[in-house]
Amino acid sequence: MRGLPILTAVLAFLPLTAGAQQPRLSLKEAELLVPREIRKPVKSMIPGNNPTVHDTLDTSDPAIKIVLCNDGTWHYSRDLSAMADSAVFRKAWNENVLNPYNTKLEDLPFRATLCLADSASRFCCPRQVKVFSPFGWRRRRNHTGVDLPLPMRTPVYAAFDGRVRCSMYNRGYGNIVVIRHASGLETSYAHLAERKVEAGDYVAAGDVIGLGGSTGRSSGPHLHFETRYEGYCFDPQWLIDFETGTLRHGYFVLKRKYLTPSSKYYPESEDEEEEIYKTEEEDRAEAERIAKEMAAAQYHTIKSGDTLLGLAAKYHTTVNAICKLNGITSTTTLRIGRKLRVR
Ligand SMILES: [Zn+2]
Repeated sequence: MRGLPILTAVLAFLPLTAGAQQPRLSLKEAELLVPREIRKPVKSMIPGNNPTVHDTLDTSDPAIKIVLCNDGTWHYSRDLSAMADSAVFRKAWNENVLNPYNTKLEDLPFRATLCLADSASRFCCPRQVKVFSPFGWRRRRNHTGVDLPLPMRTPVYAAFDGRVRCSMYNRGYGNIVVIRHASGLETSYAHLAERKVEAGDYVAAGDVIGLGGSTGRSSGPHLHFETRYEGYCFDPQWLIDFETGTLRHGYFVLKRKYLTPSSKYYPESEDEEEEIYKTEEEDRAEAERIAKEMAAAQYHTIKSGDTLLGLAAKYHTTVNAICKLNGITSTTTLRIGRKLRVR
């Protein structure tokens, strides 16, 4: 154990964004450790697959320990109850109301960077399977999460470390567990056959929080999984690729425009990097441009005899432009009474 005090000293000064589980780390390797790339995907941990702990070392942060395992690996471990000091777990904390927030959408920042998983906090895919029913509008009804099929009474795992804010029965959601995470993100797990945690409990990523079921408004066993920020739901597929069970990024840039049912996940473009580093001013300018455009928008209600060509001439535009604005083609039937955007 002679080398350990030095190793401890080195590790204690390392940023906590380094790799979660470093196999057989030598002192030289430890010095070379660099923070985990912020955009790098994070693989789901395998729940229950924890090596035996050999020893635990302190770091300069009392809530963070270094755990040395019998198989030669080590990882950081965070004392979950230390999270209680964070303002995130005091603001709008109500264990009886599913959405206790009262924040106006326009008061939220254009973008919030959420640290979802770092060396001291892991990720576990709640259920690795192809999404059965996606987030968003579904036959005029707003679907506020994703549906993941699962056999009756299959364990459901907490996605990240956090504190259970609600564990209750709700007419629509059935048995539902809501967990708040240190990043301010909330994840919800609905239609459970059984809940295994109570409001106020601290949970670690990978802990079983309930068993899959079909309680509430549900047509068969499935997990309805939601992600919310300040009470606003967004497509969980922004965070997780459920098919591979991977967290897309350790750090997630949540944009305000995601916080509506019409904003579905789409694979990000080649401009992704540029988008991440866009400034608040650039975001504001873009929002203002869109608002101006919306204010200048002109609509036409289809009457008998209207044609796209006729409308294009009337509003000094082109058929192509009208089609683009309304997501239609030049052969779409113009239903009488339909409102078309013409400018
Ligand atoms: Zn659902």
